[in-house]
Amino acid sequence: MAKHTIDHLLSGNVKFRADEFEPHASYYQSIAQRQTPKVLWIGCSDSRVSEDVITGSKPGTMFVHRNVANIIAFNDVNVASIIEYGVVHLRIEDIIVCGHTRCGGIAAIEDGVHENYIADWLCIASGAKERADKIAKEQKLSREQKLEVLTAENVKLQIKHLRSLALIRNMHAAGPLPRIHGWLYRVETGKIDVLVDGRAGRETAA
Ligand SMILES: [Zn+2]
Repeated sequence: MAKHTIDHLLSGNVKFRADEFEPHASYYQSIAQRQTPKVLWIGCSDSRVSEDVITGSKPGTMFVHRNVANIIAFNDVNVASIIEYGVVHLRIEDIIVCGHTRCGGIAAIEDGVHENYIADWLCIASGAKERADKIAKEQKLSREQKLEVLTAENVKLQIKHLRSLALIRNMHAAGPLPRIHGWLYRVETGKIDVLVDGRAGRETAA
C-alpha cells in the first residue's frame, strides 16, 4: 500500500530533526527560548510559495501571515493583529508583501468568481484589476502577461493598504520603519523579483 501523505510528513520530521535540528542544536535551543524574527512576511496561502524554503531561511527568521492572494484588508483583525504584534512587540523592521505567478486568487480576480466567501475576499483587490485592465488595454497584453501585471498591481495595492493602517501611518510619521518591500515570486523558475524596493535609500514608489 502506498505510504499516506501524513506518514510522509511525520517521517520528514524525523529526517528534519536528524539532518537539521540536531546538527544546529544550539541555534534551535536559542530560538526555543525566544523568537526574534527579522521579517514579517505577508504572502499567499499557495502551497508552492513556502517563504522560508524559497528564501533559504531557517525557522525563526520570519513572522508569517498568509491568505488567498496576499491581501491586506482594512477590517481584518487577523492581519492587523499580526502586523501589530510583529512591529510593536517583536520590533520587526522589514515587512515583505509577496505575490506569485500562477496565483489562483489572481486568476479568480481576473475571471470573476462565484463562491461567496472567495468573491467577498477578492473584492478587496478589485482596484488592482482596474489598473491591470487599463495597462493591458494600452499595451495589448496577452492573458498571461496581464495576469502578471495584475499580480504586481495587487502587491502594490496591498502595500498601499498596509501603509494606510493607523499603526503604520503613525510609525511612518515618526521615521522610516518599518521598511516595506513588495516581491513577486515566480513559481516557474523559483526566482524572486523585487517590485517595491524598501531597502534604505532605495525605496521605490508603490
Ligand atoms: Zn496565490
